[in-house]
Amino acid sequence: MSAQKTSFENSLLTEVVKTGKCASCGSCVVNCPFGCLELAQGKPGLIKECKVCGICGQVCPRYKWAMDKAEDFIYGRIRNPQEEFGVYRRIAAAQAKPVDILKARQDGGATTAMLVAALKGGLIDGAVVSGKNQDKPFLPIPVLATTLEEITESAGTKYTCSSALLALPEAIKQKKTKIAFVGTPCQIHAVRKMQMGAVKKFSTPVKYLVGLMCSECFDYEGLMETHIKGKLGINLSDITKMNIKGKMLVTTPAGTTAIPLADIKPYVRTSCSVCEDFSSELADVSVGGLGLDGWTFTIIRTEKGEELFTNAEKTGFLESKPIEESAFSKGLLLKLTKKKRDTKKTTQPQP
Ligand SMILES: Cc1cc2nc3c(=O)[nH]c(=O)nc-3n(C[C@H](O)[C@H](O)[C@H](O)COP(=O)(O)OP(=O)(O)OC[C@H]3O[C@@H](n4cnc5c(N)ncnc54)[C@H](O)[C@@H]3O)c2cc1C
Ligand code: SF4
Ligand code: SF4
Ligand code: SF4
Repeated sequence: MSAQKTSFENSLLTEVVKTGKCASCGSCVVNCPFGCLELAQGKPGLIKECKVCGICGQVCPRYKWAMDKAEDFIYGRIRNPQEEFGVYRRIAAAQAKPVDILKARQDGGATTAMLVAALKGGLIDGAVVSGKNQDKPFLPIPVLATTLEEITESAGTKYTCSSALLALPEAIKQKKTKIAFVGTPCQIHAVRKMQMGAVKKFSTPVKYLVGLMCSECFDYEGLMETHIKGKLGINLSDITKMNIKGKMLVTTPAGTTAIPLADIKPYVRTSCSVCEDFSSELADVSVGGLGLDGWTFTIIRTEKGEELFTNAEKTGFLESKPIEESAFSKGLLLKLTKKKRDTKKTTQPQP
């Protein structure tokens, strides 16, 4: 990892922000030791003079990022060509058992069940999740959840960007030492880059990384305000669930509206076009829907991931069943993994 002392302007501003590659993860903002950076409309910018320490470049997942080095760091080796969706131990379909989680979940609720079981059993003392915003429905708010209720309330997918790393300083403030972090692949890369580098303050309490599978995420104003509210006339506070199953499905008490993905493509964030990782290949456990009905497609990748998953099973928070090699969802995983890699080769983001 480069320890060069490059200014924000000469590193992230020029090569990440202005090129449209910034994933809005918040890592640079959190790690700047002089508090020089702030996120405004999802982009980091200087709020005071940069001290040219070079740290923001060392923690940005979109600057001098090397996937093979990260794999070697986590797994002690680089994947072989057969491991198309990354290194893993096993895959399973998983479903939460508690009724309150089943009510709040996105797919099988396995993510929330693993966190709740871990908090209850003392494996973790908090979890960074993306909670609900009271004023802006489905705008994810990065939050350090420290109670079973807070974790469960944050269940469900918000398809717009969460700068999840912004919740990490709260873990330090509250002297947490073993937290779980839930995030999209770009956010998982950011935490891994912190773990691999010299500046580990905010990654030290992170014990488990739960990675969401992710094809793309959307600009909030564009998707929610302009399209769903403006063009379709849906009151945002009436929405009870959003999902993507071939189309974007927006559910209210009046029914479900299916939106063709082509209609909302203009609102996909530009940084998603350079993203190669569909299935959170560097997480301890990866979770996705992948066409399963009411179950979470779970990829257990590391020993820690195994610990988190089996703890939830053994304590009765989770049940699981095998996924056959020939299953539709496994094929979909391979297809979406390949699609993301191929898209990256042919696309350049527009700032
Ligand atoms: C932007 C986005 C795109 C996705 N695209 C796909 C896809 O193409 N294919 C697929 O199979 N799966 C996709 N997923 C994952 C899927 O929607 C579910 O999150 C996953 O299957 C886990 O389901 P669950 O029932 O176990 O999760 P739950 O138990 O409901 O928990 C979900 C967790 O995700 C967190 N979360 C919600 N929104 C965000 C966000 N924006 N950023 C970070 N964390 C968040 C919540 O705080 C909660 O901890 C996507 C998720 C996101 C956030
Ligand atoms: S002072 Fe802050 S903005 Fe400047 S290089 Fe260091 S971390 Fe980056
Ligand atoms: S990707 Fe993250 S670390 Fe890099 S510039 Fe954007 S917000 Fe900062
Ligand atoms: S597609 Fe990639 S960059 Fe976009 S939100 Fe998902 S993981 Fe992040």
